[in-house]
Amino acid sequence: MHERGYYGDFGGAYIPEILVATFDELTQAFEAARADPDFWSEYEAIMGNYSCRPTPLTFAENLTRHFGGARIYIKREDLNHTGAHKVNNVMGQGLLVRRMGKGRVIAETGAGQHGVATATMAARFGLECTIYMGEVDVERQRPNVFWMERLGAEVVPVTEGTRILKDAINEAFRDWVTNMDTTHYVLGTVCGPHPFPEMVTWFQSIVGQETRRQVREQTGRLPQSVYACVGGGSNAMGIFSGFLDAADVELIGVEAAGRGLATGAHASRLASADASVGVAQGYKTFFLQDADGQMRETHSIAAGLDYVGVSPILAHLKQTGRVRFESATDAEVVAALSLAMRLEGLIPALESSHAFAQAFEDASTLSPEDVIVINQSGRGDKDIFTVADAFGDPGWRQFIREKAAEYEDA
Ligand SMILES: *Cc1c(COP(=O)(O)O)cnc(C)c1O
Repeated sequence: MHERGYYGDFGGAYIPEILVATFDELTQAFEAARADPDFWSEYEAIMGNYSCRPTPLTFAENLTRHFGGARIYIKREDLNHTGAHKVNNVMGQGLLVRRMGKGRVIAETGAGQHGVATATMAARFGLECTIYMGEVDVERQRPNVFWMERLGAEVVPVTEGTRILKDAINEAFRDWVTNMDTTHYVLGTVCGPHPFPEMVTWFQSIVGQETRRQVREQTGRLPQSVYACVGGGSNAMGIFSGFLDAADVELIGVEAAGRGLATGAHASRLASADASVGVAQGYKTFFLQDADGQMRETHSIAAGLDYVGVSPILAHLKQTGRVRFESATDAEVVAALSLAMRLEGLIPALESSHAFAQAFEDASTLSPEDVIVINQSGRGDKDIFTVADAFGDPGWRQFIREKAAEYEDA
């Protein structure tokens, strides 16, 4: 499929000379693990005992009736420990770190979800943990900073540049260059230099393996289409990898259209014409950048989709036409979330709700013979601040005001 981490025109490993040996060591450890059936058994065992695998595939009977088209099934990654698919990747990397005999992990985080998952893994495996986070994000994402610190991680606010995710990534690489003998960098998605896109896909492929088995058991067939939201692309690559070889199964990646593609306030790299190919953060893909290669500001109601780059593997799968890319606006996403809550009692994360929005749009055009699967990548409890604002919930506002007043008196 690739030579040295290239997927068609995309991918690669654009890394400083000093890190080459560290990347070689990681690639070897990963390849040895992949060739060793005991490693995967150990991985499945820990995901079963510590998280919630296999996560269920839920038939959404009420949504199916509501749209009157395809039968809708939902893969429940929200039931994982820490509330999303991210734990699949970090636990896998944790097992690898143990094999490599390193005692410290570092990670970058934007919204904080990957930071919380990494800090959780580090606590479980007894590793020292440092999380780099832009100063702006530290201020915006206090609940996640709180949990990371309680889990024993050191959270380092990054004051360079625009003080957001990309600056945190630079800082994490700087740390790695200094501490590579003792430290592993737990990259959070299917992006970055080789072997990360392939390695993270491998860990997340547990989602697709389970889904393929479950959908066959429950419906006796393979689905017509599979929907996943796309930030960096890890939950999408995870579920898609169960179906890549089944040419009849349509795969749909849904990006953030934010306030609308025409406004420029979005994070849509593969479903819009706004991104162009470049090399940044160690790999080649479509980036939302200006003519000088300066990264543009992105926007999404879902913090986890708010990213300038995208998986080189997905960029390739777009070029080959294997995956269709769509986008959903903030407003469409809130409407889809609302419907999933009211009709099924499910609370998908705002990220996952992008996949729901597109699947809802397509469902009524299909027939009851057709089965579609939506990857519910995470649970929405974490989004209460954003969602309560989007619904303009007066009771919630009053609650926040009263809490703030309590702290002022104290
Ligand atoms: C982080 C996150 C995403 C986006 O990351 P991918 O690598 O694109 O999967 C999607 N959904 C949830 C719930 C997340 O926490």
